[in-house]
Amino acid sequence: AKLAGRGGLQFFHQRLHDELVYQLDLMERLEKALDRDELSLWYQPQVSAVSGRIENVEALLRWLPAEGAAVSPAEFIPLAEQSGLIHRLGDWVVEEACRQQAAWRAAGCLVSRIDINVSGSQLTRPDILERFEACLQAHGLAPGDIGIELTENVLIDADHQILEGLRRLYHRGVRIAIDDFGTGYSSLSYLKHFPLTALKIDRTFVHDAPKQPEDRAIMEAAVFIGHRLGLEVVAEGVETAEQLTLIREMHCDLVQGYYFYRPMPAPDIERLLLGRVTA
Ligand code: C2E
Ligand code: CA
Ligand code: CA
Ligand code: CA
Repeated sequence: AKLAGRGGLQFFHQRLHDELVYQLDLMERLEKALDRDELSLWYQPQVSAVSGRIENVEALLRWLPAEGAAVSPAEFIPLAEQSGLIHRLGDWVVEEACRQQAAWRAAGCLVSRIDINVSGSQLTRPDILERFEACLQAHGLAPGDIGIELTENVLIDADHQILEGLRRLYHRGVRIAIDDFGTGYSSLSYLKHFPLTALKIDRTFVHDAPKQPEDRAIMEAAVFIGHRLGLEVVAEGVETAEQLTLIREMHCDLVQGYYFYRPMPAPDIERLLLGRVTA
């Protein structure tokens, strides 16, 4: 039987066309959003697995259009990578995270580090790491004040210049985490060559660990290899007490997830940290 009759094929073309129009429109709106102050960074605490104390925060991009509903970064980041808009977006994130960290320092709100996400296509622009350093300096920050998170694929594709740039940041004291660990299409050999300080176990493993022995085994292996390489190990996407118990048994260092805190706007972080009674 003909699976796609004439009508079926036309329908398919129409859907494809609509999808492309939607994506183009979204990118046009995103470009305007940059100028219109519709973007913000929200922050999700990472806590010590042992004490539950807040150690760092991860900065996550939020787009709340003046009209219409919020758009998820899971939707607009991949499109921004394709359209090239990611460079302006990435610059904005670096600048905003530095500005916020400097403001927090001035207010006595001690967030030891803000980690930002850097996508692979951002690293195709050779001066990105220099610009990052310049931004730290311009805001009077130390290299340890802002960290970066990269995914495995970014490292696999990294050319010589990027690698040198990452090494320089690493030796200056910038923390570099490998994000979504275990989900890339890669062998582990890249771990030998890259300057890294932390490993974030992907939340899909964390999610399934209580029910699936395979996920537990992979997590245990990740913690083991991370610690043997001298890396800090972070479990992300922790939502339940059951998951937390497992993660503690595995001796993960840091935990991030809805069980403790959801991503929140900067003022909520301030309330959390400044409102806390210190001994
Ligand atoms: P990611 O870097 O893996 O960030 C973690 C995602 O998991 C965030 O989604 C966070 O809100 C969510 N999350 C945190 N805790 C939990 C939990 O307990 N359960 C569940 N189900 N989810 C949890 P979000 O904010 O929607 O971001 C999605 C992705 O978009 C990020 O994944 C990252 O890849 C990308 N992204 C976000 N902000 C930026 C940015 O500034 N630059 C770049 N290049 N990418 C970004
Ligand atoms: Ca991340
Ligand atoms: Ca992640
Ligand atoms: Ca992810």
